[in-house]
Amino acid sequence: MLSFNHSYACTVGMKIERDRLLAAQLDLAGAILRVERQPLPTPLEPDDVLRQAAHAVDALRDKRILGVGVGISGFVDATRGVDLYSPILGWRDVPVASPLSEELELPVWVENDVNALTLAEWRYGAAQSMRDFVCITVGEGIGAGLVVGGRLYRGRFGGAGEVGHFCLDPEGPTCRCGGRGCVETYVSDGAIEAEARARGFRSLGELSTSARSGMGKAREVYQRMGRVLGIGAKNVVNLLNPEAIVLGGERMADSDLFLNSFHQELRRHAFSHETRELKVLPAQLGSDGFLIGAGTLVTEGLFQRPALEVAT
Ligand SMILES: [Zn+2]
Repeated sequence: MLSFNHSYACTVGMKIERDRLLAAQLDLAGAILRVERQPLPTPLEPDDVLRQAAHAVDALRDKRILGVGVGISGFVDATRGVDLYSPILGWRDVPVASPLSEELELPVWVENDVNALTLAEWRYGAAQSMRDFVCITVGEGIGAGLVVGGRLYRGRFGGAGEVGHFCLDPEGPTCRCGGRGCVETYVSDGAIEAEARARGFRSLGELSTSARSGMGKAREVYQRMGRVLGIGAKNVVNLLNPEAIVLGGERMADSDLFLNSFHQELRRHAFSHETRELKVLPAQLGSDGFLIGAGTLVTEGLFQRPALEVAT
């Protein structure tokens, strides 16, 4: 009898990256209507970035905007809307929600970018209606969003899900976190690129093309990548026993080259009842998921369903 009018108004989902800012206008069902892209200056001064973020939202005001969701890499205090620590942006303790909200006169939510992506895959993508799953992103960094018992699990300071910093070898290469032998030091884009150069390839593109044409020394790089990711995922499975692992992030473009070794490693020596039923699913929304998830923060924030929460 009643249905939700998705075009009554829109939300803005934003992602702040190292060198650019993306702001999407979305309808209330998470469909992207329009995207504003703006290059960002270096170094990234928070005041400049927030001013530019406000301009990007203003450029999307041709429709009624209910609120803005912002995805940022690193540790985010989602309750206070503060970026606690983002190594990629070089920010520490930067308030984002309150200055932006004051400037725009709109409610603003801030969330870790991988958590935003996880929310998007949960509501509209690969993990719809699941109560326990983990979304792992593979690219410049390795991140994870955790949904545990039907809730996004952030941890005490928004630091949950740092799968990229699981230690594989305490004597291994130094990581940007200060530790050694973290998963990221083997499988981030930077690590794969360094390995490619060490083997005589000029770029990631040349490495993947050579691997697809069957060249052994190129294929080995991806096989090791799959094994390392598989070990990381197995640790997650042993900790949380999720229903599914959703794999996303830019490097999934090369998943044909590493997924086999990933599966082999994930299931090797694993507890059989945990992995037999485990689903491994590719993320469905691609890089749009970051923006869709950021916009979804607004709809979730404004249209919470307390009756449903009590019933479950
Ligand atoms: Zn690390």
